[in-house]
Order: sequence, then C-alpha cells, then structure tokens
Amino acid sequence: MITDKMENKQRLVALGAGESGVGAAILAKEKGYNVFVSDMGEIKPRYAALLEQYGIPYESGKHSAELILNADEVVKSPGIPDTAPMVKALIEQGTPIISEIEFAARYTDAKMICITGSNGKTTTTSLIYDMLRRAGLDVGLAGNIGNSLALQVAQQDHAYYVIELSSFQLDNMYDFRADIAILLNITPDHLDRYNFEFQNYINAKMRITRNQRSEDAFIYWSGDPVIDREINKLRPTATLYPFGEQQEKNVAYVSDGKMVVAARQPLELPAEQLSLKGKHNQYNSMAAAITAQLLNINNDVILESLTTFAGVEHRLQYVATVRGVRWINDSKATNVNSCWYALEAMTTPTVLILGGKDKGNDYSEIDQLVLDKCHTLVFMGLHNEKLIEHFSALGYKPAAIEEQYSDDSKRYIDTNTLADAVRACYNAARNGDTVLLSPCCASFDLFKSYEDRGEQFMAAVRNL
Ligand code: ADP
Repeated sequence: MITDKMENKQRLVALGAGESGVGAAILAKEKGYNVFVSDMGEIKPRYAALLEQYGIPYESGKHSAELILNADEVVKSPGIPDTAPMVKALIEQGTPIISEIEFAARYTDAKMICITGSNGKTTTTSLIYDMLRRAGLDVGLAGNIGNSLALQVAQQDHAYYVIELSSFQLDNMYDFRADIAILLNITPDHLDRYNFEFQNYINAKMRITRNQRSEDAFIYWSGDPVIDREINKLRPTATLYPFGEQQEKNVAYVSDGKMVVAARQPLELPAEQLSLKGKHNQYNSMAAAITAQLLNINNDVILESLTTFAGVEHRLQYVATVRGVRWINDSKATNVNSCWYALEAMTTPTVLILGGKDKGNDYSEIDQLVLDKCHTLVFMGLHNEKLIEHFSALGYKPAAIEEQYSDDSKRYIDTNTLADAVRACYNAARNGDTVLLSPCCASFDLFKSYEDRGEQFMAAVRNL
C-alpha cells in the first residue's frame, strides 16, 4: 500500500472545521497535500458534508496529537487562541502555523484589497465590494464575511478580492502582501487574546502593512492618534493615502459638509447625500472611495455606490416608519464606542434601547449624547441593574411600559423581553422621533446572537 508519507506529500492540518478551516482543507487537497481536519467542538453538518464530499479525513470533539503533531504546516482558525494546548505544542516543536488567508494567497495572482480596524470593517468591506461589482470587475468577498478565500481560490478564482481581516487572522500572516491595505481605526478590543497589552493588539493590526511595496497603497484614518504614532514609528513602505477631517495632508476629507476624494481625479459630494449616515460612515465611505479611485473606477460609479448603497444588516439599518416614527436596527453595536457613533448620527429626538450582556462597559462615554438626544431609554436585558444605576444618576426617572410620553422629562423603562421593549418604545416615541436599537452589549442573555436580536427586533417592528 502506498501511503501519503511514502509519496512524500506535505501534510497540512487544519485546526477548526469552520468556514476557513474547511476552505483551506479543500484547497490543500486540490493542491496535492495530505490533509487532515481536527475540531475540538462539534462540526456543523454543512461543513462535515463538504469534507465528506472531498474525501478529506477529519475528527470532531477532540484533537488527536498523533494526527496533528506530524503536520508540516498547520492552518489555524482565527477563533483558536495560542494558549490552546495543541497550539502550544505545535509552537514548541516549531511547526509553522498560518492563517487560511496566508495559505490561500499562495495560489492566486488576484489583487488583494484588505480591510482591518477595530470598528467599521464589515461596512467598509461591503461598500468596496459594491463599488467593484458596479464597475463590472471580477471580484470575490472574503475574510470574516462571505465564503473563505481558500474555497473561492479552489473553486472559482477571481481577479480581485476584498478581504475583511481581523487581528487574529493578521496574527498568523507572514508572506502575504496586500495590494491595497486599509486601516480604519484602533481602539482597545480583544485584549484577553493579547495578554491584556494594548500594544500587542496594535502590532497585530499594523501587520496589514507587512510586505507592502512602494507601488502598493496604505489607506488609513489620519485622525487616529494610535495609527499616527505607529506610522511614525514603522514608516511603512507603501504609498500612504490618509483620510480625515481636514484638507491639509489628507487625500480625502470632509469640510463644510462636503466630502472630497482626490486620490485621482477629484470627486465631490455633499456629505448629506451619502447613503450611510453618521460621521463614522463618512470615514468608511472615504476609505472605500479612495480604494475605488486607486483601482481606476470611474467617479460616476463611485458616486452611485456612495449615494445608494443599502448598508449592511444590523448596522444602523432602517427598518420601517410607523406612525411617523423611524425605527433603526443597530444590533451590531455590541460595545459603547459603536453606540456613540450611532447616537452621533441621530438627527431627531431618540428613544434608545440599551442592554444585554455587559462586557464591563463604561457608559459615561455616551452620557452627553444620551442627554442631548434621548428623552427615553428602554433597558432590555436579564440584568438591567447597572444601566438603571448609571442612567438614574444622570437624571433619568423610572416610567412604566404603557406610559405615553407627554412632557419633557427624561425617563427610563426597565424591560426583560423584546416584546416589552418594543411596546415601551412604541408608547414612548412621538411623531418625528427615532427609535434606535444600539444596545452597547452582547446579546447572549436573551438571544442567540446579535443577528438573532436584530431579526427579532425587525420582525416585531413590522408587526406593529
Ligand atoms: P466591524 O466589522 O469592524 O465589527 P461593522 O461595520 O460591523 O464593524 O460596524 C460595527 C459597529 O461599529 C456599527 O454598529 C457602527 O455603529 C460602528 N462603526 C462602524 N464604522 C465605524 C468607524 N469607522 N468608527 C467607529 N465605529 C464604527
């Protein structure tokens, strides 16, 4: 019998049988590797079916050392930390561990457009993808959204990829080179995976500039003090395309309510015409428009996308207008900073739904915006005590679910179900108001995920 070892095939092990691990395994199999997939948890039926279909051996519910430690190379799912015992053992014996993106990129000549940052990745990635598609380019969407890069390279390669990269993916990227790299912002996040050192997380984000050449582009928000400092320190080789508030030094900027993008032939439009609302989305829009200009996409196509792009689900997503009240789903706002940007985008009196699983939030960051814009706060969670304490101190007084809003007082309503929360908002909001679900918290106390929370919210609103 001829075994793979006797044939001298390279052995590639994928740790984690999700989108990235299964994609990498399929590509590796196609490229002649001896492949094995191992997942500590349960494997979703659709991924197990794919592995069966391609004849790839796998295990679930365990990591068998004898099947993993003999790998020549390991593709690790971004969800698995370096502290996992099997990963530690691999690091100790010096086995190279790479990300699925690193692996897949070896087998394609496509132009790579990569987006990272603490907030705004999915929105910007989707907007760029929209622009490239409108321009008729052969483009795939990959990374944290869409199909894995590896699967696309294996099954239907494209000329361009727009790739959303998390810090975890960047951690295990070494030779990868982005033709266009975009860094939106850096604020503390995921510190539990970075030894509670912010700098470690910053270093991961800055890896997006690694291997870039002078003909490549690095697009970034110049208003971010962390990015600014890192650029001065690292002096990236790529050509820099900063965007921000002022005309000075920036390739794209917003001044006097007008957005200008001048990486090529300048494009101008009144900021109010952007379909994605809020200051944060002006940044995301500028990053996307610079990218499109660098790819020589016509300004008319870019303008059309900027003014009509429908947005991404659960991010400041318009749901419906009921009795003159606009309802907005921003369920993805699972931290205080993203709620800040959502509130900043509100242009009418607002009823704000907050609450869920608190991740150690400091709500004082949104105090001023809440005071300026929200007459009613509706708390929706299993444990609302912290919210009640914080916003009572800010002057909000308890009110009942059925109470209509009649004076100018500041009130909060304590609820524990989505149905009650929506009912409370319905009673509290007046003609011309906005109801905003932007909860600052994870969803796991009452919902399966932020998507589940957003979907249930939208269904309840549409039933009003
Ligand atoms: P990510 O993919 O990085 O999590 P999303 O595009 O899904 O980002 O947006 C998540 C939340 O972050 C949104 O609800 C929005 O309120 C906020 N957000 C979006 N873009 C930015 C930005 N450029 N700066 C700060 N916050 C942002």
